[in-house]
Amino acid sequence: MNQNKRMIVAVDGYSSTGKSTLARDIARYFRIKYIDSGAMYRAITLYALREGLYDRANATINEKALRKALEHLTLDFELDTDSGQQAILLNGEDVEREIRQMEVSQWVSSVSQYRFIREKLVEKQRAFARTDSLVMDGRDIGTVVFPQADVKIFMTASLEVRTQRRFKELQEKGQHVSLEEVRHNVAERDRIDQNRSESPLRKAPDAEVIDNSHLSRQEQLQQAIDMIVKKMGDHPLLAP
Ligand code: C5P
Repeated sequence: MNQNKRMIVAVDGYSSTGKSTLARDIARYFRIKYIDSGAMYRAITLYALREGLYDRANATINEKALRKALEHLTLDFELDTDSGQQAILLNGEDVEREIRQMEVSQWVSSVSQYRFIREKLVEKQRAFARTDSLVMDGRDIGTVVFPQADVKIFMTASLEVRTQRRFKELQEKGQHVSLEEVRHNVAERDRIDQNRSESPLRKAPDAEVIDNSHLSRQEQLQQAIDMIVKKMGDHPLLAP
């Protein structure tokens, strides 16, 4: 084991399986950086919707205009040191709340299918790992973004459990959507994410599965810690 080597942990899986919660917990435990790649796709979707570059009726984007916009658009993550929460900045504006709204959830998988958007975001995602150890969650992190990741986790849970969790989360945020709408959105995003031609959602052959249908937050973190420790052995980050 190269002692100076950075550690990359990839967390992929289906929608609303709690990937971000686990990835954040792993980051806190090992004191490494956390990047939410889904937030990046959501921010681009929000941008396209706001700028009128997404045609809802035909589920297509104005490719020429968005390509041009992507040359200058900036995406950054900012850590709120008080709450420990991370926020994504789109051209400097904190859009963390807005990207979690149903309107964005509804169209994000459609927007994420475009190759030029994925290429741009993958480039940014890899740049985050140039200097730091990190954990990143998404759909293609272990397969495309970091095929050489040290540890790959693939998360799954039953559709019913995922729907209930997401519904509760939206209710707590004061967003009024029906359980049926949430179930449909979660299932539909999985369907599009798995069937797109560009970097479809797949479990990497060397990823280990965590099914958290019946696991507590602490139990899933413990499973992940065990996997990481088993794989990384005497890596300095794991030293007490
Ligand atoms: O992770 P989250 O559910 O916020 O991601 C929103 C959407 O962004 C996914 O449903 C998927 O369409 C897209 N996505 C992606 N590749 C990633 C992360 C997210 O295509 N690495």
